[in-house]
Amino acid sequence: MKRRDVIRNLSILPAAGVIAGSAIPFGSVLAEPASPAAAKRDLIKELGLRRFINAAGTYTAMTASIMHDEVVDAFNSTCKEFVMLDEVQDKVGEKIAAMCHAEAATVTAGCWSASVLGTAGMLTGSDLKKVEQLPDTEGMKNEVIVQKAHNVGYVHALTNAGVKIIEVETAEDVAKAVNEKTVFMWFLNYAENDGKIRNEEWIALARKYNIRTMIDMAADVPPVSNLWKYNDMGYDLVCISGGKGIRGPQSAGILMGKKDLVAAARLNAPPRGGNIGRGMKVNKEEIFGMYVALEKFVNMDHDKEWKMWEKRVAVIENAAKKVSGVTTKVTVPRISNHTPTLSIAWDINRVKVSRADFQDRLRKGNPSIEVMGGKGESITITVWMLKVGQEKIVADRVSEELKKASAW
Ligand SMILES: *Cc1c(COP(=O)(O)O)cnc(C)c1O
Repeated sequence: MKRRDVIRNLSILPAAGVIAGSAIPFGSVLAEPASPAAAKRDLIKELGLRRFINAAGTYTAMTASIMHDEVVDAFNSTCKEFVMLDEVQDKVGEKIAAMCHAEAATVTAGCWSASVLGTAGMLTGSDLKKVEQLPDTEGMKNEVIVQKAHNVGYVHALTNAGVKIIEVETAEDVAKAVNEKTVFMWFLNYAENDGKIRNEEWIALARKYNIRTMIDMAADVPPVSNLWKYNDMGYDLVCISGGKGIRGPQSAGILMGKKDLVAAARLNAPPRGGNIGRGMKVNKEEIFGMYVALEKFVNMDHDKEWKMWEKRVAVIENAAKKVSGVTTKVTVPRISNHTPTLSIAWDINRVKVSRADFQDRLRKGNPSIEVMGGKGESITITVWMLKVGQEKIVADRVSEELKKASAW
């Protein structure tokens, strides 16, 4: 379309609305109605992208999870209306807080963003001068106590806001680390077993020294009870991903906890500008989508879901272990990605393929399949991101490639 035509069309549209009828009702289309052809566009194909069966898990690079229809409906039913962004956050925040036993909650642009904004809120409180000053923390309390085993890449979310990480290992270290600059103590939930101090003791220490706490539990549902466990335990702020186990929008997450801190975090976030969170906007559709996804997750039959996962795993396991030289094992990570996880290992002398080549063959097959690499000659598979029936395709392809590699 030539520019001239575009302009002409634009000028026609409102007029057409006026001619067609009196008042334009809410929910009506101000722009052109979506054409049936547009709905049928296969963008993944059109752009030459590879779609694949996700037998790996909720990995960010693989776009993490697929939203339930109800979540997509939440997008569709809200995207053509205007509402005030803060009002959506207020209402959805109340609902989320109630579901998760928190005083308050807000939807963020993922767990990472929840961690940045939570840190910012801890630093600034309701002081708008401090909001403006971040990430410069001159004159503020700016030290965060973190266990050595928890001091991994995710702390960058905290240092984004300008804080300094103070590493500790033992309770005695905490006693020495606490000073008038300490702003809070941070816990990385999945690393609980790697550190010397567990959740309960961490909270007890924080209480003893009267210091606030924040926990990253990004990928730590299921079990669903973890949604409230850490609020009940006494964490002041809890950060979680929306687009992993909860199957909300990938770029959404939740920051929840104490009222004053959630309110302070929001001062550092859109729709307000002039703050470090301005780039961490969550649109209304994602906020509604996060709410609906969480509601579905809280109310679903988790036992039934678990049994379905076990059945799917059994289908793949039974196919794989028929190949001689192959051993299988099912484990459940205690925390984080808490779902039946199948490990398929093979004896390289009998099944002559490297792990990387095996993954590559699954990837390049039709349909393409993604699995994770394990230790040595092995792969790991989870089934919670599979669509109905895909476990059979995965079972067939895995056993086919294992057999091919054994046939010489
Ligand atoms: C995935 C993850 C994050 C980041 O979460 P997003 O929702 O992608 O922002 C942070 N911490 C941990 C431990 C994670 O697994």
